[in-house]
Amino acid sequence: MKAHDGIYIDGAWRPAAGQDVIDVVNPADEQVIGAVPAGTALDVDTAVRAARAALPGWAATPPAERAARLAALRDVLVARKDEIAETVTAELGSPLPFSQAVHAAVPIAVAGSYAELAASYVFEEKVGNSTVHQEPVGVVGAITPWNYPLHQVVAKVAPALAAGCTVVLKPAEDTPLVAQLFAEAVHEAGVPAGVFNLVTGLGPVAGQALAEHPGVDLVSFTGSTAVGRQIGAIAGAAIKKVALELGGKSANVILPSADLARAVNVGVANVMSNSGQTCSAWTRMLVHRDRYDEAVALAAAAADKYADRIGPLVNARQQQRVRGYIEQGVAEGARLVAGGPEAPRERGYWVSPTVFADVTPDMTIAQEEIFGPVLSILRYEDEEDALRIANGTVYGLAGAVWAAEEAEAVAFARRMETGQVDINGGRFNPLAPFGGYKQSGVGRELGAHGLAEYLQTKSLQF
Ligand code: NAP
Ligand code: MG
Repeated sequence: MKAHDGIYIDGAWRPAAGQDVIDVVNPADEQVIGAVPAGTALDVDTAVRAARAALPGWAATPPAERAARLAALRDVLVARKDEIAETVTAELGSPLPFSQAVHAAVPIAVAGSYAELAASYVFEEKVGNSTVHQEPVGVVGAITPWNYPLHQVVAKVAPALAAGCTVVLKPAEDTPLVAQLFAEAVHEAGVPAGVFNLVTGLGPVAGQALAEHPGVDLVSFTGSTAVGRQIGAIAGAAIKKVALELGGKSANVILPSADLARAVNVGVANVMSNSGQTCSAWTRMLVHRDRYDEAVALAAAAADKYADRIGPLVNARQQQRVRGYIEQGVAEGARLVAGGPEAPRERGYWVSPTVFADVTPDMTIAQEEIFGPVLSILRYEDEEDALRIANGTVYGLAGAVWAAEEAEAVAFARRMETGQVDINGGRFNPLAPFGGYKQSGVGRELGAHGLAEYLQTKSLQF
């Protein structure tokens, strides 16, 4: 994948207004692998104008035709899946098999799901003497992070296009290459000029300009709670719709009747996946006191097996941040049973798979999102105690419950303050609504619920 030296606006690659560029670095070895334009407010303005100009035409395009463009987009992503995986591996550092199985395959599934939903979704219903039309919200400003760089783009752009909205995307500065590849794919799929536009750039410059632009009707943001709070405030002041997909500190609750080895092994795999850079990761493992020592030993052994399997973190700042959290865990009295703060390699932004035992709910590592390969194991006394601990953070994005009987796990899951819960290792479902309770966000992505975010209703009375 060769980097474009332009930004994609109104169906063409064109020079950015300024000269500044962003270097793209391979986090595994710190080599610079390319550079992309650092777009500014001027570029964002040009992109938003193009999206506004394209809006009436795309909004009036029959859903079946929008569905056909999305199917074509999915087909281009399928044809270029190896290139997608290699690009994500180069700029994010994830091992190639993971890039193929997740970073390339999941966006293909999601694009395919919206090709089908665009065709089948009911955009019109009768309510008494009214006809209610679901109409596109308008121009969408999408701001995405680097951790699942193509998935997070597709999870916003595909439903927006299915709904009849037009889009300006500001991808993460660390992973702009796969976003450029996506723009090429949209172009190849025959999506009309101006319907999708890409401005690479820095968050506080291009991202902020996009969130503030009066020509943007809906801002969809995924990333940190700190930036999400700012974007929510900007959107609130302008009475714009906003969707926020923020952080998490999800609980993996292992009830006493569960298959302990399976629950622990799947739980460790979940945290180490993508080097822990997953907003929905089960970073707190909750184990009954009678089975606690056994669980700690299993988790430590499992984590050690990931030392040669996980990739680096995305950049030096994230590496420093995660190592800082590990040091803080030690300082607050948690017991290291795997890994630690030392960098395992000299070059690249590596952190060892790390497991803490004797973590108590008040500790920083039990409350804050670390976003690295770090698991905290907490002890509970009984089910009520487990529930208090599970619900005892500001977040509520995901979680897991394990029990011998499914009904027992479901009963517990229904009392958790969180948007998704996997029961006894239930699989990821690309059609299930994804999003947070509490400070994990506002709105839902994926499937029909994700499509509804990009629609507004109009009622006609007869
Ligand atoms: P971030 O700063 O929130 O980045 C997310 C996106 O927002 C990026 O495209 C970023 O651009 C942009 N952005 C940054 N400041 C902005 C602003 N003032 N206005 C508009 N857009 C802005 O997240 P991060 O710095 O990459 O990661 C920090 C922490 O956030 C992580 O350690 C993790 O805890 C959390 N995080 C959560 C998720 C998630 O999926 N929920 C994803 C990533 C990170 P730049 O790329 O230029 O910064
Ligand atoms: Mg940032």
